[in-house]
Amino acid sequence: KKFPGDFSGNPMQRNTPKVLFSTIAPAGFDQPRLIAFNRKLSEEIGLGTFTETDLNFLVGNQLPENIKTYATAYAGHQFGNWAGQLGDGRAILAGEITGDSGERNEIQWKGAGATPYSRHADGRAVLRSSVREYLMSEAMFHLGIPTTRALSLAFTGEEVVRDMMYNGNPELEKGAVVIRTAESFLRFGHFELMSAQQEYKTLHELADFTIENYYKEITSEGEQKYKDFFEKVCRRTADLMVEWYRVGFVHGVMNTDNMSVLGLTIDYGPYSMMDEYDLNFTPNTTDLPGRRYAFGKQGQVSQWNLWQLANALHPLIKDEKFLEEILNDYGSYFWETHDRMLCRKFGFDQLLTSDEKFFTSWQGLMQDLQLDYTLFFNRLENYDESTELKKQFENASYTFLNDEDLTRLQEFIENYQHRLEKNIISREKSLELMARTNPKFILRNYLLYQCIEEINAGKTEMLEKLTRALEHPYQELYPEFSSKRPSGYDDISGCSTL
Ligand code: AMP
Ligand code: MG
Ligand code: MG
Repeated sequence: KKFPGDFSGNPMQRNTPKVLFSTIAPAGFDQPRLIAFNRKLSEEIGLGTFTETDLNFLVGNQLPENIKTYATAYAGHQFGNWAGQLGDGRAILAGEITGDSGERNEIQWKGAGATPYSRHADGRAVLRSSVREYLMSEAMFHLGIPTTRALSLAFTGEEVVRDMMYNGNPELEKGAVVIRTAESFLRFGHFELMSAQQEYKTLHELADFTIENYYKEITSEGEQKYKDFFEKVCRRTADLMVEWYRVGFVHGVMNTDNMSVLGLTIDYGPYSMMDEYDLNFTPNTTDLPGRRYAFGKQGQVSQWNLWQLANALHPLIKDEKFLEEILNDYGSYFWETHDRMLCRKFGFDQLLTSDEKFFTSWQGLMQDLQLDYTLFFNRLENYDESTELKKQFENASYTFLNDEDLTRLQEFIENYQHRLEKNIISREKSLELMARTNPKFILRNYLLYQCIEEINAGKTEMLEKLTRALEHPYQELYPEFSSKRPSGYDDISGCSTL
């Protein structure tokens, strides 16, 4: 299939025939200053000898001998449109490291300078977006969700100009670099680029490389090998979406260049955890009014993105019927996995056919009573018949709960208790299931906002506290972090400024 877009003669493009990367060195920064270092991750991935004192490595000033750093080229569909060639515009790869137990991780600086794929942008990152990436990727990891991770966060000492979306005035912000790690940073977009440029030999090699390294369970050969690969990418993607739904994560920019081929959460931009349950919620102010990437659309959009990957893999999988079948089955696999996940949130040991109705009535209740997604399940877990209902739920709602609301809530809880009676497992086991499915701490957007304000003012107490809290999301280490968003923070959305 021919993709739209002609790359020839466009100064925004850099063609790298037969290869997917360009070598490029980080910019180098005069006055770096460390903000946070993830010692545990450093040890885990085999960088144990590195410490806070290796600051010059952490911002890309000083490189180990013999390493060639590089940026990769990819393409993508952005907000539903083919965007042509993109690439690592501000991410530079240092290569791969092997840990003690043999597992391999790629190491990447984000914000360390322009690359051949930066187009007209500066290749820098600001403190705000860097803190958001550093903390949220670690929060996702500790929630048990596949993700890229973060090793360090440092000021570069540079001031970076950014156009603030909300007032249109350019402002100076502190520059920062994050080191992130992942088994691989390969995206759908890498495959899309090779396919669009009709570099089928490289596409083949890329698919073989990916399967050999990250889909070792595939043992088939010929076209079947690529079929199995595509099927497994679909599975991992659906599983990831369900995990996002479990904790209320909204990515915000699910363009195909931000979709990991390994099923990892990647590219922490204008994301947000959801406070009050709302299928239309999006933290991305550039996605209004379309709300393409709203909370409730993530399942559907991931399927659309997989259609684009299927198109890209078409030269390797000639059997179109197969691709269509897999994609058409995606919805039923996704929904079944999703509903089983919801069962666990409610403490049900199995999915019953009657649950669909139960879930629908629950969704209506959540939306109408503006209930906080996380707090609702915490309250349900601790529900106590002898305590006034209003007392138990008023601080979990963003609206005043009137008598009518409370009657509705009471009815729902009675329904819920009837449904619990169908469990085979004991109530004790059911509560354990809820406790390990429903986080007690989530990294809410207002917490990030406050933390960034503090760091800007030269303080790191909140950063340290949040770091501890996010390492134990199924406990309540700090009760003040386990309450709903305070009033006055209603308007903060995700990081609109890169
Ligand atoms: P994103 O929306 O974060 O996925 O970014 C889309 C594209 O823009 C990617 O190819 C990024 O590498 C690139 N990009 C974003 N910010 C910058 C920047 N400050 N400098 C260079 N490239 C950037
Ligand atoms: Mg991106
Ligand atoms: Mg980004």
